[in-house]
Amino acid sequence: MKREDCIGCQFCTDVAPDVFRMNGESAECFGDVTESNIDAATEAAEGCPVGAIEIE
Ligand code: SF4
Repeated sequence: MKREDCIGCQFCTDVAPDVFRMNGESAECFGDVTESNIDAATEAAEGCPVGAIEIE
């Protein structure tokens, strides 16, 4: 993810809390994307208002 683009809205950390967490004013990816959270991670990526999240 592109942390420099993050505006700290916390959408991703709300939607996929086992993948994303806040670190200071921006979110970071700290967990692995697995079958159990891929849907939430994808929703977070699609809903990020600045497109800072890419699922590979
Ligand atoms: S959804 Fe996007 S802008 Fe909002 S906290 Fe997550 S990475 Fe940052």
